[in-house]
Amino acid sequence: MKHFDVIVVGAGHAGVEAAHVVQRMGGTVALVTLNASDLGVMSCNPAIGGLGKGHLVREIDALDGIMGRVADYAGIQFRLLNRTKGPAVQGPRAQADRQRYKKAMQAEFQNLERVEILEGEVVDLTISAGVVSGVFLADGQSLSAGSVVLTTGTFLNGVIHIGDQKTSAGRMGARPSIALAQRLTSTGVEFGRLKTGTPPRLTSKSINWDVLEMQAGDDDPTLFSFLSGSPEAPQIHCGITHTNEQTHDIIERNLAKSAMYGGHIDGVGPRYCPSIEDKIVRFADKTSHQIFLEPEGLNDDTVYPNGISTSLPLDVQEAYVASIVGLESAQILQPGYAIEYDYVDPRSLDFTLELKGIDGLFLAGQINGTTGYEEAAAQGLVAGMNALQKVRGEAPVHFSRTTSYIGVMIDDLVTRGVLEPYRMFTSRAEFRLALRADNADQRLTTFGRDLGCVGEERWLKHAMKLEQLARAKDILGSEVVSARQLADKGIKINADKPSRTALEALQLTDVGFEHLEDHIPRLSEISADIKAQIKNDAQYEIYIQRQRAEVAALEKNEGQAIPKDLDYSAIAGLSAELSKKLTATRPSTIGHASKIDGMTPSALLLVSAAVKKGPARRMRAK
Ligand code: FAD
Repeated sequence: MKHFDVIVVGAGHAGVEAAHVVQRMGGTVALVTLNASDLGVMSCNPAIGGLGKGHLVREIDALDGIMGRVADYAGIQFRLLNRTKGPAVQGPRAQADRQRYKKAMQAEFQNLERVEILEGEVVDLTISAGVVSGVFLADGQSLSAGSVVLTTGTFLNGVIHIGDQKTSAGRMGARPSIALAQRLTSTGVEFGRLKTGTPPRLTSKSINWDVLEMQAGDDDPTLFSFLSGSPEAPQIHCGITHTNEQTHDIIERNLAKSAMYGGHIDGVGPRYCPSIEDKIVRFADKTSHQIFLEPEGLNDDTVYPNGISTSLPLDVQEAYVASIVGLESAQILQPGYAIEYDYVDPRSLDFTLELKGIDGLFLAGQINGTTGYEEAAAQGLVAGMNALQKVRGEAPVHFSRTTSYIGVMIDDLVTRGVLEPYRMFTSRAEFRLALRADNADQRLTTFGRDLGCVGEERWLKHAMKLEQLARAKDILGSEVVSARQLADKGIKINADKPSRTALEALQLTDVGFEHLEDHIPRLSEISADIKAQIKNDAQYEIYIQRQRAEVAALEKNEGQAIPKDLDYSAIAGLSAELSKKLTATRPSTIGHASKIDGMTPSALLLVSAAVKKGPARRMRAK
């Protein structure tokens, strides 16, 4: 029987990152998947990143993961979302060439030492006395390992719905994973049921592009990887069209035929990524919804109409698509569909993504109730590194929500669980000013290097960047700029501080390097990239210092007593859910409060501040 340090089951976005990180850290790994050509397949739209999701990709990249580099190579349109807002909430996004992405991902694994890719269905797990030690494949093979990582996506008991037609499948064209779902059920793992959906695919040549508004990518594309320079693939435009009253009328009249509204689906869908049926029911006052027509590749006639995912029957899909401007003669290549699948309640995992009841069994990706390639990939990374650490008897790797979006996601999943498919947003991160996409490397690359998952090329580049940053900060810290000089440049400034260092001046929102260069010629020694990084860092420095102080205070105040009569409902900013839990639990200290399911650092800060404010905040009735 072949033995590996780690067996990874599934070669989707979680599986490839899990296997790759085990390899980077020097472990041996078997990557088992239903079909070897599945490696790197994008089940839904060929796009990576977005708000919050782009941050995750940057963090994966900072740890030398593969998603960012592959997306940069395959990207055919790059857009920085929220460009006009502050850097903390900007999200890099790329539309990818589906085939190019898959090929580049497969190339990452070609001839990679210590990785064996095996085609087959895992149908059983070897578990003895609560410890996993291997897997069984449907063809009779068995493999052994110190740890096993399951990343089976939407495949566990997957069922595709198109109108009232049901097909058992992992996704369109792939068989589901039923035996493994049964095996997991037999272990007593807590399962739930979720659903997601996808729109019909259209042929490009049947779309009347001439009447559509076209959208180009950014002129100065923001890539994902700290190693990438500029896009490698030719860049394309997307089309924009809209649903209209006729479209809505067709959908409304046929709602009962939708799998979702006809009562055929029990699973809960993603609230933030609603089907077109959901949009029409939930936003009944809207007469139009935007649709992005995204080509799936450079040499691909397929177009992904982003915004109209559906589980209506094919004839209704044809009718509503034809009612949309530019799509009057559009041909459907593949119908839209919904898929329902089993997921494991992520509260049964610990922060390493190891199942609490079965030693050595880790879960990552959509199986944990998340949705999205980026969320899956980030979990794959965490599960893979921890699976190997476990085998080696090394300390578990913990990602904190104060230093990464990865930490925010893991904490949300394992402490709060999910009621609907979980996706990342910047609003989930209370320390988002410090967790920017632009500084993911400064937050994580040294951490990854110490762990052994960051290779030489990235480390050398990163070390050079750190050196350049330090040198630039030395210059900026030693040069002084007067209030008068800034005022002469048109900067409105508080006159009670007659001078400040150039670094302090950059902390002011309106001050950029262009306002300082006349006075400080040495600034020309600093490259444009380093200037941009320093401005971003400086702009948030004061807020970040405040947040750090708050976190430190929280850690110090673990023993701070909470009065029994504290009126949680009177604490402004505390969510109703946490207020209820705190009222029911009445923790005696901040430390106790931190153990409550779903508790967040920002909520603890609010409670701590309310306690400090004193009796005025206590329950009036007492
Ligand atoms: P997957 O990418 O699904 O990979 C699972 C892997 O496991 C596959 O390689 C499969 O072969 C393998 N596998 C399964 N069972 C076994 C077994 N027993 N033995 C061996 N191998 C096995 N995300 C969004 O963000 N927005 C959306 O709108 C969206 N819509 C979607 C619509 C559809 C129809 C589908 C199917 C997915 C959609 N997604 C969407 C989700 C996105 O595709 C997933 O979140 C992402 O692919 C999950 O990655 P994963 O690695 O967890 O699983």
